[in-house]
Amino acid sequence: MSYANPPRKIALVGIGKIARDQHVPALQASSEWDLAATVSRSGSVEGVAAHDDFDGFLAARPDIDVISLCLPPQPRFDYARKALMARRHVMLEKPPGQTLAEVQALQRLAEKQGVTLFASWHSRMAAGVAAAKSRLVERVVRGARITWKEDVRKWHPGQDWVFEPGGMGVMDPGINALSILTEILPEPVHLVAAELEFPENRHTPIAARLDFTADVSAVFDWRQEGPQTWDIEIETNKGAIALRDGGARLEVDGVAENLVDHPGEYPSLYARMADLVARGQSDVDLAPMIHVADAMTLGRRVTTAPFEFDKEKT
Ligand code: NAP
Repeated sequence: MSYANPPRKIALVGIGKIARDQHVPALQASSEWDLAATVSRSGSVEGVAAHDDFDGFLAARPDIDVISLCLPPQPRFDYARKALMARRHVMLEKPPGQTLAEVQALQRLAEKQGVTLFASWHSRMAAGVAAAKSRLVERVVRGARITWKEDVRKWHPGQDWVFEPGGMGVMDPGINALSILTEILPEPVHLVAAELEFPENRHTPIAARLDFTADVSAVFDWRQEGPQTWDIEIETNKGAIALRDGGARLEVDGVAENLVDHPGEYPSLYARMADLVARGQSDVDLAPMIHVADAMTLGRRVTTAPFEFDKEKT
């Protein structure tokens, strides 16, 4: 006879685009988790207890000891700090914060409080990533090209926070590519040059070109309409490896690999969170964010056309 653990209660904070698209369906389909509450100033999920004030939620629901923060990076630190102070386990959407130092502060606090902190990178859970990593272990990397081009109006409709300080601009999707790169490369690389295009009316870049050591480079662009491109192409001593569709597809020497039975990025993230909590461990890898911070430090700034979400105003 098997004695499965009952689902563990979890609260979702920030019921916006990614919570609705991914977190809620992943949690509702999971036998490990019970979505027991939401905290959002305006959003809610049918059939789930809804709170609109985080302090009130923490006081009212001591029975919920795991909290997943789906907020944009700018307000996230204050929520994470309060949750950790209240001895809750915390899962962070990517990027884990606005700055490296604030995430390190959360790491120290989680350790002091004896709770789990998981800085999630959803793209690392894409179907082809683990297979690409194991292929690369057997090969010598000669160089890599990242092409990450998407339409910001489609993926972040009206979300002005992406162009506010701390929102990262095109680095918000670009960091997904960097999260894969830093996961799969057998040897780390570091940034040596960058060029960042800032719309003249915005605070964060809309496009970027990044050059790394070991002949690795990346092009990010948020102005791509029509087909979207999320590719990582790697040259090795034994031929080419390519991850396409954000890591969902793997090609080895131009031939598609058969990737079977993948649970999906967000179900995989929540399975990882369940495992970390059960083991009493944390997982905070800042490598992707270090590349973004370096690009912002070293990058040459170019001013480009103004950007408005409403095309009529452009
Ligand atoms: P969003 O929809 O703009 O915001 C999520 C929710 O956060 C909002 O509904 C809002 O809920 C709350 N919020 C926003 N600003 C706030 C503030 N200043 N103070 C308190 N609460 C605030 O953003 P999103 O697209 O879901 O992105 C959230 C995070 O997920 C980002 O870090 C992003 O990089 C990541 N992500 C997004 C996508 C995507 O496709 N959009 C994909 C993967 C990961 P209330 O107003 O109801 O409180």
